[in-house]
Amino acid sequence: MITGNLNWAQATSKEDPDFFNQLAKSQQPEVLWIGCADSRAPANVITGIKAGGIFEHRFVANVCVNSDLNMLSVLDYAVRVLKVRHVIVAGHHGCGGVTAALSNRRFGMIDNWLRHIKDVYRIYSQELDQIADEQDRLRRLVELNVVEQVNNVSRTAIVENAWKAGADLQIHGWVMELSTGLIKDLGVTKQGIGGRSGWNLSAIRTENSERLFS
Ligand SMILES: [Zn+2]
Repeated sequence: MITGNLNWAQATSKEDPDFFNQLAKSQQPEVLWIGCADSRAPANVITGIKAGGIFEHRFVANVCVNSDLNMLSVLDYAVRVLKVRHVIVAGHHGCGGVTAALSNRRFGMIDNWLRHIKDVYRIYSQELDQIADEQDRLRRLVELNVVEQVNNVSRTAIVENAWKAGADLQIHGWVMELSTGLIKDLGVTKQGIGGRSGWNLSAIRTENSERLFS
C-alpha cells in the first residue's frame, strides 16, 4: 500500500506539478458522497474524481439515521461550511448489509443498525412481497433503501434550513452495479424551492435529475 501511494503521488505530480500545493491549501469539493463502507464501492475510484473533489462518508448499507451524530456532523459541515452543491446517497447491488437485513440471521451489534433497512422493507412490503425472485427482491430493496435515505437526508434540519436560506443544494440517489461498475441514477433527486415566494419546506422531486460526472 505504501508503494502504491508513492507511485500515485509521483504519477499525480508528474501529470500536474502544482496539484499537491493546491490540495494542501484547502478543499472545495462540490459533492458529499454518502455511501456504503463496502470495499468495492470507493467514491473517487468509481467516479474517476481526483482527491479533493468528493467529501465522503461511508458506513454499512449507506443508512442515514436522523439521530446519527456522525452522519449529521459530516452533513452539517459539508452543507454549511464547504457549501457542497450535491449530496449523493450511493448504494450498490450485492450489498451485504441489505442482504443481512433481509435474512432472519442474527449478527450481533450490527443488527441494530440493519433494523433501519428492515423498516424500509416494511414501508415497501406491498411492492417487495410481489417480487417472487429473491435476488430481484434484494435488488429492489437496495434501490428503495437509497430512496428512503435520500428522503431522510432531505428531511434533516440541516438540509431544510439550507433550502430555506435559498441554497443551491440537490440530494441524489444512485446505485452502483458491481458486475459492470456502472452507476444508475434512480431519478429521485430532491432540491429546495427557496428564493420563491411561498416557500415550502417539503422537497420537490425532479424526474430527470442532473447527470453528474458525465
Ligand atoms: Zn454495501
